[in-house]
Amino acid sequence: MLKTIPRMRAEAAKDVFELIGNTPLLRFRKLAAPFAPVEIYAKAEWYNPGGSVKDRPAREIILTAEREGQLRPGKVILDATSGNMGIAYAMLGAARGYRVTLCIPANASPERLRILRAYGAELILTDPLEGTDGAILEARRRYEAEPERYFYADQYNNPANWRAHYRTTGPEIWEQTEGRITHFVAGLGTSGTMMGVGRYLKERNPAIRLIGVQPDGPFHGLEGLKHMETAIRPGIYDPDLLDEIVPISTEEAYAMARRLAREEGLFVGISAGAAMAAALKIAARLREGVVVTIFPDAGYKYLSENFWFEAGT
Ligand code: PMP
Repeated sequence: MLKTIPRMRAEAAKDVFELIGNTPLLRFRKLAAPFAPVEIYAKAEWYNPGGSVKDRPAREIILTAEREGQLRPGKVILDATSGNMGIAYAMLGAARGYRVTLCIPANASPERLRILRAYGAELILTDPLEGTDGAILEARRRYEAEPERYFYADQYNNPANWRAHYRTTGPEIWEQTEGRITHFVAGLGTSGTMMGVGRYLKERNPAIRLIGVQPDGPFHGLEGLKHMETAIRPGIYDPDLLDEIVPISTEEAYAMARRLAREEGLFVGISAGAAMAAALKIAARLREGVVVTIFPDAGYKYLSENFWFEAGT
């Protein structure tokens, strides 16, 4: 059921930076049974110390900026984030001694806002009606007003975002499936996960198909994902890399998150529900194959949502 890269270390970890990555790959039997012999797997990204896939790009962005001299003691890390990237910056900034300022839509889940405050981050709440785009514009305004004060991490345009996945997530998936992966399915937010993993996998085997998952419309409840046609397009996003995009409705994602909790014992977030719903749609079309997706985070940050408590699937 569980395939892992060994996580035990002989010596103590120096800091949280070292705990990022090498997450388990989960194999599904029950949910995948109707599609046998197609195999379905998901990478359990909540195993990262900040609780999400975004620890990977945050680490790469911070280490790259330190190396290149843009981030130095005294600078404040600034970015726009719907939550998980902010948690990763707040955690890593605290560990390294940087202050962190985040522009975040005021309607982000209360759990996320409280976690960010617990790590000591400064929060600038932006108009919920403007979504993450409003937060991006506010971060740009602040940076332009005081460029000396901030290191603007700019996750939507920073190539270190996708490079983190090219260096870590992609090779892990390749090794954990022993090079057998045929389809990679991932939600599109900044698109860093898809761009980095996708480029790595296509280099290893150009026949691997890359399938992006996005909300089925501009107004949706899939926190962390973007409707690319109507949102500010991330600079790192290259749609030509993808073979296909699967739209998923908020209701489908909720229903799949409930099923994962109740049928597999996996309490995952809404975008993981969307990713699994898309992975099953892909599997349904195949005779054979190895479909791998990403479960970006766990369900705890979404507990104030009522869909968990609805009956049925
Ligand atoms: N799911 C969640 C919960 C996220 O926070 C994010 C990051 N925005 C994603 C999916 C998408 O990841 P990426 O930014 O790498 O496209």
